Amino acid sequence: MSQDASTEGDLRNTGMSLKHDREWDYELDRIVEAVEERNATKVGLQFPEGLKRRGPAVADDLRALTDDDVTYMLSGQPCYGACDLDTYLMRRTDVFVHFGHSPMKESEKIIYVPLFSNVDPFPMMEDALDELPEEDVGLVTTAQHMNRFGEMKSWLESEGYTVHTRKGDDRLTHEGQVLGCNYASADIDADQVLYVGGGKFHPLGLAMEHPDKKVVIADPVNNVVTVADTEKFMKQRYGAVHRAMDAEKWGVIFCTKIGQGRWEMAEEIVNDNDDAYLITMDEVTPDRLRNFDMDAFVNTGCPRITTDDGPQFHKPMLTPGEYRIAVGDEPLDSLSFDTFHGTW
Ligand code: SF4
Repeated sequence: MSQDASTEGDLRNTGMSLKHDREWDYELDRIVEAVEERNATKVGLQFPEGLKRRGPAVADDLRALTDDDVTYMLSGQPCYGACDLDTYLMRRTDVFVHFGHSPMKESEKIIYVPLFSNVDPFPMMEDALDELPEEDVGLVTTAQHMNRFGEMKSWLESEGYTVHTRKGDDRLTHEGQVLGCNYASADIDADQVLYVGGGKFHPLGLAMEHPDKKVVIADPVNNVVTVADTEKFMKQRYGAVHRAMDAEKWGVIFCTKIGQGRWEMAEEIVNDNDDAYLITMDEVTPDRLRNFDMDAFVNTGCPRITTDDGPQFHKPMLTPGEYRIAVGDEPLDSLSFDTFHGTW
């Protein structure tokens, strides 16, 4: 089954319909063990947006399993990745548990509980084979499906493929893992890559970062197989660059989230341009930028905000590379995906 990238696929009998009653493994034993070992009295819990509502129940379960003098605190900060730790809460707790993402940087204090998807990836992988005619194939996935990566690789091998995988850079924990801002794990010796995971953002980034490769998407969440097509996405990005070309006043955003800061990059832009103003913020939203009287913005924080949410901002929002094009430092055809490397 191959569909246009703009269709969402059939949502029946998939992880989407299970989403709200899915049982996750919160690894409570591991948390309790750390609390006891460290004689912790203050424990911070941080959940990604979709699971915040589970926070109080997880805290209740932990309360029942630990001494009465242990206090559990929930982070209310938005959270979209392991780049986004609630450092305020973390500093005030003895144990800090970050749910839903794999570690970006290990620390004694933090327990990462990844919360793996329980959706079966193999039916969609099987459908994807029609789009993978060559013997060599790269395999990548997101943290949510990482628990089955070994099985996925063996399965492809049993189908006769030579499977190429690698661990990317420090920003990535696992072999074959991709992030919305990092596709170094796809720097492999194959012209076709199978991406197993939900959504289109990651495979689009992957296809833009590796334009010489065919990126096939086996999406077990939306039950659909597609081939990444960057054309619409590129048009949208070129549109934003064009609209920003006449900008006189630029807002240069430096994101204060622990894993999203690129200070030198932001500083360099501001130093080079007298009409650029550095704006620091944690959560980058259209509402927060509306009051700034700017003609365009450059976001040095999460590239996903720029490219996925870009159209919602009242003024053009560019990546640092796109800014260089808009001000004439770089040619139009240098447009590429904004990736992040390293941690903090
Ligand atoms: S910077 Fe953005 S894309 Fe990268 S890990 Fe964080 S939330 Fe994901």
